Amino acid sequence: MTGGKVRGGAPKHLYAMLIGGELVSGRREEAVINPADGSVAGMAPIADGEHLEKAVSVARAAFPDWSAKSWEERGGALQRLADAVEAEKEVLAPLLTLEQGKPYRTQALGEIETAISFLRDIAKQRLSSRMLRETPKHQVELRYVPMGVIGAITPWNFPVQLSIWKIAPNLLCGNTMVLKLAPSCPLSMLRFGEIAQRILPPGVLNIISGGAELGERMIAHPEFAKITFTGSTATGKRIMKGAADTLKRLTLELGGNDPAIVLPDADVKALAPILFWGAFYNSGQSCVAIKRLYVHESKHAALLAELATVASGVTIGSGFDEASMLGPVQNRQQFERVVELMKDSRACGHKFVAGGTIDGEQSGYFVPVTLVDNPPDDSRIVQEEQFGPILPVLSYKTVDEAVRRANDTKMGLAASVWGRDAADVGSRLQAGTVWINESPLFGADIPFGGHKQSGVGLELGEEGLAACMLPQVRATAKAPELEGLGRND
Ligand code: NAD
Repeated sequence: MTGGKVRGGAPKHLYAMLIGGELVSGRREEAVINPADGSVAGMAPIADGEHLEKAVSVARAAFPDWSAKSWEERGGALQRLADAVEAEKEVLAPLLTLEQGKPYRTQALGEIETAISFLRDIAKQRLSSRMLRETPKHQVELRYVPMGVIGAITPWNFPVQLSIWKIAPNLLCGNTMVLKLAPSCPLSMLRFGEIAQRILPPGVLNIISGGAELGERMIAHPEFAKITFTGSTATGKRIMKGAADTLKRLTLELGGNDPAIVLPDADVKALAPILFWGAFYNSGQSCVAIKRLYVHESKHAALLAELATVASGVTIGSGFDEASMLGPVQNRQQFERVVELMKDSRACGHKFVAGGTIDGEQSGYFVPVTLVDNPPDDSRIVQEEQFGPILPVLSYKTVDEAVRRANDTKMGLAASVWGRDAADVGSRLQAGTVWINESPLFGADIPFGGHKQSGVGLELGEEGLAACMLPQVRATAKAPELEGLGRND
């Protein structure tokens, strides 16, 4: 399987899908591009209809045994999987840098380590049944039963972590799965599949890769009990329509246009680096990145200057360069989208405080950190999710105005408020998560999901586990009634 070396030190590798406990090549392959230099990071198999049928049928065949295992047995398998992934994190992390672009030591290794700790924490979780009524005559209980075969679809920004958020709770709850990876960034998770092959019973977890067409086949497939999807709102809407015919259960984790509000009393010097990384971590390609920064007019100029100072100290480059604090945008399509937004801002005469120009000679998808000073609320840079390193910094006069403008969006994923009265202001924001003087905080015990068009349902926490199972009411007659029944028969 292994051969020479590619850039970044990761071994050359034949990537295969995991189907029914076997590593399966594609009849077709597509090059995965290293976004830092345009070279080929690896060739990824593309699943066709036959691969999907096979993956679904082995997952269905594996379901009775897997779902009959105890929570302890399934949790134990996930713990062993976490140990095996941990043992290979130095293989997975450079691969993630190679295909995704994020800096190796500070972000790629962090994503793998975070994924491992989520796997371990979720493996310990349990969902208990709940007694609804207990009388001398009846016992009525709400219990949870495994759903069946789950179809999971993930994006390219945190391909390992976001896949684990789907794999760990679904397998723990007794479901079997077919996971489809994003075709621009599937290599780390295909490699994860090789690790899972050694640990999990055949068919329990199947990993395939391919694009929108494969995703659409999954949505239409009658055997999936549920689709759990993380990606854009546009695709989420298509999935919801496509799932109607078979009435599949859905969890949709979608886009955001997350506001942060800086209150008049905020300490802008202390806040600037926190807000900067809240917006630009992973080159802004995070669903919960700050995408609109509202600053009280008394602090606007000072915060903008501080942010520009932080930006000027940030080195952008290949994720394998130890000096790089930010990498490239992950793929050409996203790069072009961010460049187009930048050009639109320029054409509209917006003021750039940092960045705003692209090096036309570069071979990678690098975008400089770009700060746009006070563009109008109806501009594209404010209205649309940028998903790249470009941030509008908007001035407001009153807190009521800031709240109104922050809520004036169809999105509602996350929001943050900074300052002494942040809690009061936060309670008026329309978002699935509101951070109060707090950077993005996630945990296996903390449910996550969007309001409005940012999603349907929740992942993680008790609610996330419940979403992996079917609730079932069990009403039991107690002995006296049974005896009565017997006598009457
Ligand atoms: P995307 O919707 O283009 O693709 C996501 C996945 O869906 C990929 O695997 C893709 O191949 C697949 N897909 C595309 N079209 C499909 C179709 N018609 N049917 C079925 N599957 C299809 O999104 P993306 O560009 O990969 O990811 C970026 C988006 O994801 C951003 O909007 C971001 O905010 C969002 N996101 C949300 C969360 C969250 O938890 N809410 C987390 C990360 C990213």
